[in-house]
Amino acid sequence: MSAKPFLLAAEGLNKSFDGFQAINDLSFYLDEGELRTVIGPNGAGKTTFLDLITGRTAPDNGSLVWDDGKHDLLKLNEYEIYRLGIGRKFQTPTVYNDHSVTENLLLSLAGSRGIWHSLFGKITRDQCERVAEILTIINLTGHAHRKAGTLAHGQKQWLEIGMLLAQDARLLLVDEPAAGMTDEETHRTGELLLSLAGKHTIVVIEHDMAFVRQISRGRKVTVLHQGHVLCEGPVDQIQNDERVIEVYLGRKSKAA
Ligand code: ADP
Ligand code: MG
Repeated sequence: MSAKPFLLAAEGLNKSFDGFQAINDLSFYLDEGELRTVIGPNGAGKTTFLDLITGRTAPDNGSLVWDDGKHDLLKLNEYEIYRLGIGRKFQTPTVYNDHSVTENLLLSLAGSRGIWHSLFGKITRDQCERVAEILTIINLTGHAHRKAGTLAHGQKQWLEIGMLLAQDARLLLVDEPAAGMTDEETHRTGELLLSLAGKHTIVVIEHDMAFVRQISRGRKVTVLHQGHVLCEGPVDQIQNDERVIEVYLGRKSKAA
């Protein structure tokens, strides 16, 4: 283990499904406050890597530690990992469609005492203020009372990011947020993630290169290929790396 403190450190992770090696000797280190973009062709193992971090899938071997090695994530279950402050946004939004935007945020508030209490209990001033603050961050103040099910696709994605903020997630894992978004929504999502960087640590999996460039300026980008880190570096370097061009950018598909 390196001497430098990392918020998240993965070393030598392996995971195979029926003999197919989806994650192959994967090592990955994340500093607190980083906004890291992970790209790579379809099937590179990006989503599986998030499954390993969140405890959804157990690796065959390797190590995965949190907060400068204070917690061995491989010894914890999904709920315990979530309680450490590791929040995940799936590709398809999973909001409560029949509840208002505000209610969705109340339901996610850290320390919230169950669904019944969140919806029908007395809402404290602190909770109100936190919800208002998050609504501003995710640009949904004007839609606070709308049912989440009636929001546009992009707005639902922002609400879900807001729900991670309400949970007080220290690490936000965001899988392909721009999928299905208009260019305008994608750009605004980029601005939202940039505004959160530093205060939170964020891993974004993405394939839209304009979006990757927008959010990774001056930051490290990781390229995954066949379950392994192919290379890491600034986006310009990545886009000019022969190996990346070969396995990813050279392919005509938009896959990531
Ligand atoms: P990416 O997100 O980079 O597109 P994934 O992590 O979804 O890639 O998948 C990596 C590989 O692992 C794919 O070939 C996929 O079919 C396989 N895989 C992922 N999860 C499972 C699973 N639960 N069972 C079997 N194969 C899986
Ligand atoms: Mg995926």
